[in-house]
Amino acid sequence: MSRSPYHVVIVGGGISGLSTAFFVTEEAEKHQLNVQCTIVERDVRWGGKILTNHLPNLLIEGGPDSFLTSKPWAMELCQTLGLGDQLIPTNAENNQTFSWCRGALRELPQGLLAFRPQRVETLVSGGLLTWRGLLRMGAERFWPKSSAGCSEETLGSFFRRRFGAEAFDSLIEPLVAGIYAGNADELSLEATFPRFKELEQQYGSVIKGMRAAQAKAKEGMAPKKSGSPSSLFITLRNGVGQLIQTLIQRLTDRGVQLMIGSGCREIHASSQKNGKLSLTLDNDTILTADAVVLATPAFQSAKMIQQLQPEASIQLDKIPYASTATISMAYSTEAVKEHIRGFGFVVPRKEQRPLLAGTWTSLKWPYRSQKGETLIRCYLGGRGREHILENDDRKLVQSVRQELQDIVGISTPPGYTEVHRWVQGMPQYVVGHQARVAKIKELLMPWPTLHISGAGLNGIGIPDCIREGFRVAKNIVQPFHAPTKSHES
Ligand SMILES: Cc1cc2nc3c(=O)[nH]c(=O)nc-3n(C[C@H](O)[C@H](O)[C@H](O)COP(=O)(O)OP(=O)(O)OC[C@H]3O[C@@H](n4cnc5c(N)ncnc54)[C@H](O)[C@@H]3O)c2cc1C
Repeated sequence: MSRSPYHVVIVGGGISGLSTAFFVTEEAEKHQLNVQCTIVERDVRWGGKILTNHLPNLLIEGGPDSFLTSKPWAMELCQTLGLGDQLIPTNAENNQTFSWCRGALRELPQGLLAFRPQRVETLVSGGLLTWRGLLRMGAERFWPKSSAGCSEETLGSFFRRRFGAEAFDSLIEPLVAGIYAGNADELSLEATFPRFKELEQQYGSVIKGMRAAQAKAKEGMAPKKSGSPSSLFITLRNGVGQLIQTLIQRLTDRGVQLMIGSGCREIHASSQKNGKLSLTLDNDTILTADAVVLATPAFQSAKMIQQLQPEASIQLDKIPYASTATISMAYSTEAVKEHIRGFGFVVPRKEQRPLLAGTWTSLKWPYRSQKGETLIRCYLGGRGREHILENDDRKLVQSVRQELQDIVGISTPPGYTEVHRWVQGMPQYVVGHQARVAKIKELLMPWPTLHISGAGLNGIGIPDCIREGFRVAKNIVQPFHAPTKSHES
């Protein structure tokens, strides 16, 4: 008698869930395992935060517009999916970023993110720092390292301590905290940028550590393959949504059951006491699974396991989320070309403006708008600035237009606008995050076939979500290779 397949149910059809399904089916095919995979998605579309809108003349990203090249997992997945030739670097010609500081946009020096800014004196001449601030920043190399090597620290505390308050407020805060739309005085350094702490502990200085790492990388560097990305960020020709479409196509080909439009309400142990888990969907369908992956925002995962493990549910629910919105606006190029330069600008929190950042999308990825049109995307909200999102779309656009007028002098009305709201869209890895994640894991140990992933726990970027999908998939198929083959019996 043939055995029924090992049933893996993945809840959540964002990049975390879809990539997990891809890797589970990949492993199953590779090792000829009898696995059936189902994905349950509550929304009526796939992709979660990834949302690309194709208009005849514009390509608009409602959520993420690119991913980091320094974390290879997203690029690798694109290559595996045959999308390697669709990867597009940023436009090298306009590679400048500005920060809004004391009433003007001031250029951030190249190499700042690698803590190797070129022409540091421009930080003073450009008005970003005073000489005093620059000297304090440079003194990082000689600044004593923290004796409290093990205690957790906020981003704000760490970077102020190492580089001084001035450099932190004007240069570092909008770059590091901006990624999370977060408050640097709440975000945990260890959970967001652990590498900086490691560099401090190992080299006594972030600058020294970065330089040593760069020198090491240069020594062992293989000659650059032609076509390999040189930019910090990369995207897909048809938008990040191309990754989602391709994954869905591949999962369909592999026979994955794709259930859309009805979410999972609750998970409980199967009444047959056979170690399986039961999922009750919004439409009362019951699914029985040998393994379950919750690739949903933490507060959603919390609801589903409320009965199964109330304490883990409470811990998941405590992971805070920030709300943001992206506002895309298309202008006639003639009307705005004198006003915009580089990729765009960031706004430090100390400026207390509603905008988090503005991207000149057409200068960053030129083919995203037709000739004669310029696409601009603004980013609003974030931790502590969310009250702005109480406004309706018309008011949001109005306030962004006012910001663009004040900051770069654009007064012409846009020809097209598109607003995307991400209510509780951005997990905040605040101090205590890692301990909380460890606690959740411990509490769920009695359910080894229940896996919790998604951006809320182990990394918010698309590459992190994909890496996590791979790790979870490996954990799911692992028992197939174990000598006892326990769950095949
Ligand atoms: C505005 C914005 C810009 C960003 N920019 C970038 C960027 O440029 N680069 C980058 O790398 N990252 C970026 N990020 C972060 C990144 O996009 C996200 O962290 C990532 O896409 C999250 O993927 P996920 O699959 O974990 O979660 P989600 O995308 O949130 O997917 C979870 C899915 O689960 C579904 N769901 C929820 N509850 C249930 C339920 N009970 N039953 C069934 N389904 C359910 C949801 O409908 C959703 O589809 C950005 C995020 C935002 C909001």
